[in-house]
Amino acid sequence: ILEISGLRKSYGSTEVLRGVDLQVNAGELVCVIGPSGSGKSTMLRCCNLLEVPTQGQIVANGHEVTSPSVNINHVRQDIGMVFQQFNLYPHLTALENVSLALLKVQGKTKVDAEQIAMAALEQVGLGARAKFYPAQLSGGQQQRVGIARAVALKPHVILFDEPTSALDPELVEDVLNVMRDLRKRGMTMLVVTHEMAFAHAAADRVVFMDGGVVVEQGTAAEVFEAPREARTKSFLARYG
Ligand code: ATP
Ligand code: MG
Repeated sequence: ILEISGLRKSYGSTEVLRGVDLQVNAGELVCVIGPSGSGKSTMLRCCNLLEVPTQGQIVANGHEVTSPSVNINHVRQDIGMVFQQFNLYPHLTALENVSLALLKVQGKTKVDAEQIAMAALEQVGLGARAKFYPAQLSGGQQQRVGIARAVALKPHVILFDEPTSALDPELVEDVLNVMRDLRKRGMTMLVVTHEMAFAHAAADRVVFMDGGVVVEQGTAAEVFEAPREARTKSFLARYG
């Protein structure tokens, strides 16, 4: 459903992605792990054109994201994104945050948008908090609003960039549970994470990136229990 091939990205003379090949199949939860600066965020951001790739091809649901004639709005509806810092509008309620793109991008009526947004909030366990503003919600609840916002657009795949890294430890599990639940419902997800226990237990596949390339990938058991590459071994050793 998402196919990345030969993806390169440079900032000036610095090459951050040096030919990334990665595939996510329908219904899969793929976790990307790797050291800071290895290009994980850049790779995700290229997928929905928050960054323009320097070279390579990205195809999502049969549409070529990297085609010069691509419609960015279509890409962003098809590929949802959940950020580390939530990126909610502080002056809008949870319901309004989730409704916004349904109204402005998908052109839904107010009634339809609110109904879809409400269902998405209920799915992440926040039906009772729909009228709350971000500042009245915990970090974990704000992130669940962020997930509801992505889910509401019914994308074919959702990209997560360290969705729990900004959270207090006791709130991490709530967000991971929502992601496990999405996985059960068949949502396709590509998740950059430092939560090794989550990646080990929940991922269908794990991808280890270092130095702007995919160094190794396999099932969670293969990568965590029997890594083949020295760089993967030393990275995992640091996480105990
Ligand atoms: P982390 O685990 O810390 O989030 P990451 O794997 O997500 O790291 P990226 O954020 O993709 O890494 O960054 C990869 C490299 O690209 C870093 O060296 C970073 O400094 C560089 N980089 C990222 N964005 C830009 C930019 N807009 N301009 C210049 N360099 C950038
Ligand atoms: Mg990052």
